Amino acid sequence: MKYGVLSNYIGGKKTPSASERKMDVFSPLDGTLLGQIPLSNQTDLDAAVTAAKSAAPAWAAMPVKERVQVFFKYKNLLEQHFDELTQLVHEENGKTIDEAKAEIEKSIELTEFACSMPQLISGEVQEVSRGVECVTQHVAVGVVASIAPFNFPAMVPNWTIPNAIVLGNAMILKPSEIVPLSSLRLAELLKAAGLPDGIFNIVNGDREMVEAICDHPGIDAVSFVGSTKVAKLVYQRASASLKRVVALGGAKNHLMVLPDANPAMTASNVTASMSGCAGQRCMAASAMLGVGNIDHIVTLIAEEARKVVPGKNLGAVISAQAKARIEDYIGQAEKAGAKILVDGRNVVVPGKEGGYYVGPTVIDYVTPDMSVAREEIFGPVISIIRVKNLEEAIHIENANPYGNAASVFTQSGGLARWVADRVSAGMVGVNIGVPVPREPFSFGGWNESKFGACDITGKSSIEFWTKLKKITTKWNPEARTNWMS
Ligand code: NAD
Repeated sequence: MKYGVLSNYIGGKKTPSASERKMDVFSPLDGTLLGQIPLSNQTDLDAAVTAAKSAAPAWAAMPVKERVQVFFKYKNLLEQHFDELTQLVHEENGKTIDEAKAEIEKSIELTEFACSMPQLISGEVQEVSRGVECVTQHVAVGVVASIAPFNFPAMVPNWTIPNAIVLGNAMILKPSEIVPLSSLRLAELLKAAGLPDGIFNIVNGDREMVEAICDHPGIDAVSFVGSTKVAKLVYQRASASLKRVVALGGAKNHLMVLPDANPAMTASNVTASMSGCAGQRCMAASAMLGVGNIDHIVTLIAEEARKVVPGKNLGAVISAQAKARIEDYIGQAEKAGAKILVDGRNVVVPGKEGGYYVGPTVIDYVTPDMSVAREEIFGPVISIIRVKNLEEAIHIENANPYGNAASVFTQSGGLARWVADRVSAGMVGVNIGVPVPREPFSFGGWNESKFGACDITGKSSIEFWTKLKKITTKWNPEARTNWMS
């Protein structure tokens, strides 16, 4: 085991878990055993909350301009350790080196945004009555928890770490038990950057730890990223114990392709969106609504997909179960009468026979009732649904319960705007397959892709990670006294 038995990270130190339960961590690249993580228990969480609670007041009392200095250093450390972090993400998640690099680049961008927080959170001030002034301040919420999924081992933790901590909170991170390595390294870099002990803690674990976090009276806010099923549970359970919660869920992203779309650009965008990170992105294209005659574009998509080669420019999916689930979906579509144009089933990468690979898969003539059209597959699969007109396309997109992303491919600005106004999704792309709003814009979907009021990154997240204090002041005792003066 290259990484041995991993620990938690509490109060600035690697801390063995009090739990006897452990889980093996495998590399999806070739199935090798990387290490074991503890599945922590209530004792571990109590220790993390105690550490966070005792460190939080001094951290929150520092001016934001001082807190942000730690994150300037953290950004430099992410750059200095870029290759090492890239390798960790590649190894534990199975994505390609280029995809892992993009994840660290994005982590750097997220940190840069947090470093601009002093400029973003300066309060408002106004003389609201004669001699009476009102001032607003963003105050830290306290101890916050961040629960992460497997698909972005470094980026999703960094969606929350820099912003929440710069804004004065102490954090407990629960990484995905499937990909715990990158987070532990981030904890060491935060300490090296000068973050006081106890402000960032990690408790490894599974469902039991998530439930303990939702229930813990010492935790004030919870952010969650993962599947819709669990997002709902976390939203309900943590809200029931009166925490503020934002819970991001799964997705079924629809791309609408119009006959006038630029064929080459559309084909490369659709293919990159559905196959990037082996389709394990909550922003991945999953269903394509082909409006009218788009045969020429479908042919190009199939050609592009054939250039995506597992083990080369296509990474592994996360587990043997994920591979079986994705292949089963393809089989269901075939059985239901869809046409498999490019088939990614039964792929074996020479020299990596123990890895979990699914090739890019293009399925044509899918109908809206098929499981591949309705459910999140989370693999490199695109289901093409042929529709007569844009109304039909909008109807299908609007009927899906998720609402993370939607895109339209066309050369008509008017039609693009018509579609953008009607799709029911939080993030919309025009001629863009993965419409992630880069900083300072915030990330967050609609409908069953997100529960809670704020987005998880960008300016919107400031409202989540802080409480707004309004201070009204009067220094003119000679003024008339009524309720406005
Ligand atoms: P998951 O829901 O299985 O796990 C996410 C977290 O929840 C993990 O930390 C896990 O330990 C915990 N968990 C799992 N089952 C639980 C249960 N029954 N009770 C309590 N906690 C539980 O998700 P995943 O498989 O790690 O990640 C993939 C999913 O995440 C996909 O659905 C994807 O769309 C979604 N995702 C969404 C976004 C977004 O921004 N909306 C971003 C990334 C991933």
